[in-house]
Amino acid sequence: MNASTGGVAVYIDSLCPPEGIWIAGAGRAASDDGQLEVRDPATGRLVTRIADAGIPEAVAAVDAAAGALPQWGAATPPRVRSEVLRRAFELMMEERNLLAALIARENGKATADAQAEIAYAADFFRWFAEEAVRSEGAYGESPAGGTRTIVTHRPVGVAALVTPWNFPAAMATRKIAPALAAGCTVVLKPAAETPLTALAIARLLSRAGVPDGVVNVLPTSAPADVVSTWLEDPRVRKLSFTGSTGVGRVLLRQAADRVVNTSMELGGNAPFVVMDDADVDAAVQGALVAKFRNGGQACTAANRFYVHASVAERFVGRFVDEVAGLRVGPPEVEGNQIGPLITRRAVDDIRALVDSAVGAGARLAFEQQLDPGLTGYYFPPTVLTDVPDDADILQREIFGPVVTVVTWSDEEQVLAWVNGSEYGLAAYVYSGDLKRALRFSEALDAGMVGVNRGAVSDPAAPFGGMKQSGLGREGAREGMREFQEAQYFSVDWA
Ligand code: NAD
Repeated sequence: MNASTGGVAVYIDSLCPPEGIWIAGAGRAASDDGQLEVRDPATGRLVTRIADAGIPEAVAAVDAAAGALPQWGAATPPRVRSEVLRRAFELMMEERNLLAALIARENGKATADAQAEIAYAADFFRWFAEEAVRSEGAYGESPAGGTRTIVTHRPVGVAALVTPWNFPAAMATRKIAPALAAGCTVVLKPAAETPLTALAIARLLSRAGVPDGVVNVLPTSAPADVVSTWLEDPRVRKLSFTGSTGVGRVLLRQAADRVVNTSMELGGNAPFVVMDDADVDAAVQGALVAKFRNGGQACTAANRFYVHASVAERFVGRFVDEVAGLRVGPPEVEGNQIGPLITRRAVDDIRALVDSAVGAGARLAFEQQLDPGLTGYYFPPTVLTDVPDDADILQREIFGPVVTVVTWSDEEQVLAWVNGSEYGLAAYVYSGDLKRALRFSEALDAGMVGVNRGAVSDPAAPFGGMKQSGLGREGAREGMREFQEAQYFSVDWA
């Protein structure tokens, strides 16, 4: 690894394998010596160069994972897998500060967000350490009699995992932990923007006792080559993908050729509904979390705020006051709450989206003046009100610190607007009447609903979306099932 920014080298070297590609428990260079540049979004400067995997490494990673499968899957008792995962949780929490610094450096998120991500990410190891030993099955008499049915669940096999840059640790552990608990081995392709955190996790898992070959990590600038190599390989039996709906569709089509088992965690366009009887102060606090965690770069981020006309003025006034106080700047500066976006292109895309909304009649109620000395990919926290209900910005995933407010007075109308999206991941509902909030929530096309809460993620709950937000669930018992196949035995009992 070729770290260029002084002090950063120290923690990169202490956390990550020296080369970059992690196969069979060791770092290695690319066979063509290709290198991938990792940049700091807060400055645009080079952080380090690491090995850039290609097709030969993709094949070698599957060789390693397939080689390790019989020992890890069938020959290692669940209790042993559980203890290794528990140790991974503990190690991750011990290394929390260093890992958070690594995330902040390659992703740009504020240090507090990075630390919260590490705690959340580590919790998947703890949760699935506990699930690993709860092997459930069934035994019963068939309805017609004369046979006994035994149902068991076995690991699906070698799993290919593909993760995005916005939660470089949590998106990796949310897949690795259930896969390992179930007895699968994995090949992981992190996003090219944020490969260092995934490499650090692979090394940490090795220290926790995960045998060589069980977890393999391939940073690459050629994701399509690496992932299609995996999808064409008959030894790969599972694809678990988190990323945009567009790339998810491409991978679903590729997976269809071999009918590969797939789980898809895709894009979102979360509505945040404030009813007339809501506690407005609580709704504003929830809105801050739902919108600005990770600078708005979350699949669960509230994109569209539907506020009842009778409380709209109060809600917007208080929300704007809070947004005006958000501190934007380099992640390592204590107290900063919002870092840069991931790339310059993201800044340009969101600017175009805001301009088009204003062109369509939205009112720019607030835009923070950023410190002109900031050199990275920053976008100012922005609030748009009076957004026409058919504006493009309400249909697209914004993925940045921009609030759009639409007012309403007819509950049926707002329900139709909310469900009028192709996405169905998260939603938020605020009301003083829990029964009313739940009735409304049950009618939403959303896999997850925060009721009087601005956050929904929890390792113990099934995370995932409806409609074009995905297939399958992560976390909870459901998350482990994604890496298992049911098998039953019909036993003659005559
Ligand atoms: P992306 O789809 O561009 O990339 C995701 C991953 O896919 C990356 O590792 C990327 O390298 C890889 N990839 C890109 N093109 C590929 C191809 N042709 N073949 C194989 N792999 C390819 O998404 P992103 O910009 O990294 O992440 C943001 C998106 O992820 C947003 O849409 C967000 O909503 C979504 N997301 C969803 C969840 C969820 O749980 N539902 C969580 C986090 C992020």
